[in-house]
Amino acid sequence: MSLSMTINGIQVKAEPGMTVLEAAQANGIYIPTLCHHPKLTSVGACRLCVVEIDHMRGFSTACTLPVSDGMVVRTETETLQNMRREILSLILSEHPYTCLVCERRADCDDFQGTIRKAAVTTGCQYCPKNGQCELPKLVDYLDLQEIPYPITYRGLSVENGDPFFDRDYNLCILCGRCVRVCQDVRHAGVLAFTYRGSQAIVGTAFGRSHLEADCQFCGACVDACPTGALYDKRGKWEGVPTSVVPSVCPYCSVNCAVNVQVKNDRVIRMIGHDDGATNDGQLCVRGRFGVTDVVHSLTRLKAPLVRRNGRLVEVSWDEALQVVAQGLNQHRGTQFAAIGSAAATNEESYALQKFARAVMDSNNVALATSFPKHENSDELTDTLRTINGPPISDIRKAACIMAIGTNVFDSHPIIGIEIRHALSKGARLITVDTCETKMAKVSTVWLQPRIGTDHILLAGMIKALAKERRVPELAKLDLAEVASITGVKEEAIVNAANMLAQHAPAIIIYGSGVTHYPTGQNAVKAIRSLAFVAGNVGLISVPGEGNFVGAHDMGVHPSLLPGYRPISIPKARKDFETKWETSLSPTPGRTYEDILAGIRQGEIKALWLAGEVPPLKDLAKLAFLVVQDIVSTENLQYAHVVLPATTFAEMDGTLTNLEGRIQRVHQAIPPVGISRPGWMILRDAANLMEAGRWNYNSVADVMAEIASLVPAYRGVKYETLGVSGVLRRFEPGVKAQFVPFDLERLQPLVSNEFPFTLITERNLFYYHGACLTEQVKGMNLVKNEETLRLNSDDAARLGISNGTVVEVTSQYGNAECVVQASSAVPKGAAFTSVNRVTGSPLFPTLAPTTKACPVKIGGRSRRGEL
Ligand code: SF4
Repeated sequence: MSLSMTINGIQVKAEPGMTVLEAAQANGIYIPTLCHHPKLTSVGACRLCVVEIDHMRGFSTACTLPVSDGMVVRTETETLQNMRREILSLILSEHPYTCLVCERRADCDDFQGTIRKAAVTTGCQYCPKNGQCELPKLVDYLDLQEIPYPITYRGLSVENGDPFFDRDYNLCILCGRCVRVCQDVRHAGVLAFTYRGSQAIVGTAFGRSHLEADCQFCGACVDACPTGALYDKRGKWEGVPTSVVPSVCPYCSVNCAVNVQVKNDRVIRMIGHDDGATNDGQLCVRGRFGVTDVVHSLTRLKAPLVRRNGRLVEVSWDEALQVVAQGLNQHRGTQFAAIGSAAATNEESYALQKFARAVMDSNNVALATSFPKHENSDELTDTLRTINGPPISDIRKAACIMAIGTNVFDSHPIIGIEIRHALSKGARLITVDTCETKMAKVSTVWLQPRIGTDHILLAGMIKALAKERRVPELAKLDLAEVASITGVKEEAIVNAANMLAQHAPAIIIYGSGVTHYPTGQNAVKAIRSLAFVAGNVGLISVPGEGNFVGAHDMGVHPSLLPGYRPISIPKARKDFETKWETSLSPTPGRTYEDILAGIRQGEIKALWLAGEVPPLKDLAKLAFLVVQDIVSTENLQYAHVVLPATTFAEMDGTLTNLEGRIQRVHQAIPPVGISRPGWMILRDAANLMEAGRWNYNSVADVMAEIASLVPAYRGVKYETLGVSGVLRRFEPGVKAQFVPFDLERLQPLVSNEFPFTLITERNLFYYHGACLTEQVKGMNLVKNEETLRLNSDDAARLGISNGTVVEVTSQYGNAECVVQASSAVPKGAAFTSVNRVTGSPLFPTLAPTTKACPVKIGGRSRRGEL
């Protein structure tokens, strides 16, 4: 029930639990603060929010004082304002304040442009946060004309050695917002107050650089800083944006809600949207610092290119599409394939598969990053259709979390924050990983099964919990045998199982470490079964790429139409044939791996490449290659036509995240060059090829067609998708039950010739689809993508030490890697990041989906000897 109180003589309402500051803000009454931040616990440190309360002695800080019924508050008495002027004057005595009290301040902006163009400074506003600093508002509010104290300039050097942001603690007012956001919101613990009294300063332990302090460069401290003490390198002189457009980060499948800041038709920075359902205003380094450089990369494709006399030459869209139509017309049917991108919007993905099926008469349409080929991989795809787990925000409320096959601290940092929140409140964390990841290090229990034995370990946990009559399938399973196969002690298996069952609510989070492994299907069934047996534990699958779920929803799959409707079923085909005014082939197409094999064997003659794939030499064998991309990649050398696509910042559309949440991507800037959104490119190509009429005047028309064909998207309209979007749910939903699974063991991959198992892992800075993150200067400084993590004993046995450059060889190729010896890695295994530089040459199909491969680690390469 609301409370009634009086602020400055006005009767207002407030909610129980609010502070006086929150009540005032909710009623449009300004109280100055510097240390307060809505996402942080209030500490009342700056004391600028002091107020007078009837019948209360002294002056209370409004940010820490809870409201009560009948409370009478004064916020602007002469006494309070004088106190605030004194407090602010003292704060500013240690902050260069000339810019705040200069009589020409109002005119200064007119001269700003000259500062960067000439060595002569014509103004005094040299602060990189000019226009965004919070101090001018306070100075104006308090009408502070002059400051009675001289500036005590600390003379600290600006710390600019880190990749994404600089620190000038001469401008720091010690409000502590950066420290609290780092510790309380991100649970990173990188920043703290060092020294005390007049020497107090913010910094890292032992004065290390942020890089050395294992900072994740999320940028939360930069965004929390009210002055210019912390500022991002990329946008530091950009000033105030002229527009702010809500959108969605396309990098990983969390799809964080963002605000894209724009100036002069350029993206100047991206920050978290405070109302985002998935991220509560937070981002990771990829979303915060990894977008501007991509959108405005020098390698952006700006105009269509057509190969003439061996060279790609710029042409008009009409000309390029004519060449596309002529080239593709000769290869309709199974000679054609399309490879999609999990970074594309739903509308682009829908248009791509429709083009392949309805125009090219081919079901050869696949995602480069989809699940690897299994006997019946639709079962894995079904885990996407049946998503109905708890929202991401519920992870922080869990009493027990089990993470298997995923290191979300690196791959999905926002989920990592949720886990850290839960841990800070006493939750248990069970990590199942062959490697001692960052998450394993903070776990209550770390189970380290042998490679490829996760499903057997899970079976052991189920067995430990279930009475045999509930799971007769596991009646003969012997826990001692499970322990012997997996290498995890029986006691640890039982302990972890009981922990999961006894601490509700519990959540299991699983990722590509199980889904993209040869035992993926059995592991996923085992996870579902464990969740059921342990007591309806919530399940969250964390696919890697941004629109992995949406692309599958949209039918970028060789055997599934949009909405997961099998192409082989006549009724499913009929619905689409009616809508698309064409007939469809009932024969499932090729998976990504099969498409690559088809290219090698000359069976695929024409390819539309709309996704980020590793450099593929076999593309040279194609009779006709269309590359639709946003930046120039090595694959362009084989392209007959190159079609420049817009980034998410330049188009409208939707993405669907790992919760099944459909969110809006809003166009923030005009297309770079004459690039176009993928759906538009495909529409124009389809219409040119006279494949019926693709009557889409706008992207909303594409969504309208999707909504008419895919039940879970029915009713989705752009106008009604707010910042949090809507959750799509397919019927029938998944039933909590025991799902029988196979305990078949994976044949050992290693041999005498190739004695190590190389496993790919995700890298925070060098995300899959590296052709995007490698456009970002800061990422390239820290990506660490050539690192090969190796067990210390193995390294010693091979006579290798940290930093040695070695040659890693598989039966498919070789690559140079820099060794990082560590006891965190199990013996006989080696880990490298998923990327197209070091990983791919070693793997059988150049498929980014492949997780493990036998290798040998050879003598030092020439680089190592130098
Ligand atoms: Fe983008 Fe994922 Fe990082 Fe969020 S967690 S900012 S969606 S990469």
